[in-house]
Amino acid sequence: MTLKQWQTLRWFIIKGDEGKTLAFVESLKPTKSAYSKKLVSKLRKYKEKFGGSPHKSSGFLPEYIVLHHSYGGWMSLWHWLRNKASKVSYHYAVNTNGDRVQYVWDSQKAWHAGKSAWKKKRGMNTYSFGLTWTGDTNKRKPTFEEIDSMAELIAYLIKKNGWTDRNVEDIVLTHQLIAPNRKIDCARTWRDAVIKRVKERATL
Ligand SMILES: [Zn+2]
Repeated sequence: MTLKQWQTLRWFIIKGDEGKTLAFVESLKPTKSAYSKKLVSKLRKYKEKFGGSPHKSSGFLPEYIVLHHSYGGWMSLWHWLRNKASKVSYHYAVNTNGDRVQYVWDSQKAWHAGKSAWKKKRGMNTYSFGLTWTGDTNKRKPTFEEIDSMAELIAYLIKKNGWTDRNVEDIVLTHQLIAPNRKIDCARTWRDAVIKRVKERATL
């Protein structure tokens, strides 16, 4: 296995695509000289772990990314999404320092959109990744890390799903856009900032 193949594979493992081959990949880990910290940090700037949520289902056909905020803080979100009673989940949550938790695998439906529609699609859980920030984006300003980490994640999802020929604006929506009578998350300014950052990062 070349270093490049290893990096690609490790990236997918980091992103937790079912995680089945983790032990196998660990056994292939190159020696230290080939596997420098610098290269890994280029691949992934922010920490990410898998938290899991019971609220997920099959039949996921993603075309969009929907941004949310959670009102509550980082740990209350952790407990809420993992609580059997909540019936709520997101694919990923981004903390104020940029750290992320994945709650639902990229291949499954998360329960974040509720009654919603966009263009000719109804029920946007089937058609979109749900990504959330914490707190209330209408009441506070984002940290640089929150925007940058979300942009890193969005760029990853765009690449992974083969959406690189689409406009970022057409991919990245908000809960407010898909459920305008019910929802006010996330703030438009945060969506604008993250779209701008995705484009900046693409040229870095
Ligand atoms: Zn929402």
